[in-house]
Amino acid sequence: MLIFNRQVALIEHLKHISDSKTTIGFVPTMGALHEGHLSLIENSLKNNSVTVVSIFVNPTQFNNPEDLEKYPRTLESDSQKLKSISESIIVYAPDTEDVYGEKTVSIAFDFDGLENQMEGKFRPGHFDGVGTIVKRLFEIVNPTNAYFGEKDFQQLQIIKKLVEKFTLPINIVSCPIFRENNGLAMSSRNERLSPIERQSAAIIYKTLLEVKSKFNLESIVAIKEWVEHVFENQIDFKLDYFEIADEATLIPSVEISLSKKYRAFIAVFVNNIRLIDTISLN
Ligand code: AMP
Repeated sequence: MLIFNRQVALIEHLKHISDSKTTIGFVPTMGALHEGHLSLIENSLKNNSVTVVSIFVNPTQFNNPEDLEKYPRTLESDSQKLKSISESIIVYAPDTEDVYGEKTVSIAFDFDGLENQMEGKFRPGHFDGVGTIVKRLFEIVNPTNAYFGEKDFQQLQIIKKLVEKFTLPINIVSCPIFRENNGLAMSSRNERLSPIERQSAAIIYKTLLEVKSKFNLESIVAIKEWVEHVFENQIDFKLDYFEIADEATLIPSVEISLSKKYRAFIAVFVNNIRLIDTISLN
């Protein structure tokens, strides 16, 4: 398995191994790899002649310095995991300077309002950071297909918008959420939970399932109040937001229209660790 720390060497290598029939599958990650990441990578391996995985904790998408500092960095074990699925994976694990040069700053994007809802509202600047890094990585890797998880559904929609706005010839593939046995969505941040917190965090998905069963029976206002009430009664949990939104625009809804697709979105602090999850409702 080849690991590149420098974009020039990666670009040179990809040029060397590519011809007109080569398809490059790309999976951008921030490392601390779990089965959710690995499912994206397996999807890419199955459908492309070359698979590139990037591992880079992108500073510009963190609005909270403590979250950035504490984000798990486990390159050694990540490499072992990747090697165990396929020796043919190409890894790009740069330092900040290799990606950003001298100035670690983000570009300001207009994603037609997708960036202003939920994660965008609660984490100012987050999607400018995401857009900046993904656009940069796309320029370096030049993928045919790029794989993103529905766990970060808002991010997925924003990446689709990025591709549309810059007319990038890249197919964005969305992949289902991988969960732990108790239903908790797999996340690199789960590593920071204590065993007890990891068990009790199952309530997040349990709540989403209950929301789904209430969706056609109760008003959105009543469902939101119920979710707020659930988390008021959990001492170690703090609800950051819960929204039911139109999948296409991500605008939170109060009324349901039969012609639209809806999703529930949730962000919860378990002590000071922030977890997100989402579920399709219809
Ligand atoms: P991250 O390393 O958290 O930036 O995630 C890298 C990619 O893996 C993103 O496209 C995520 O949406 C995706 N991902 C993270 N967790 C999961 C999961 N539990 N199931 C499926 N995909 C995931």
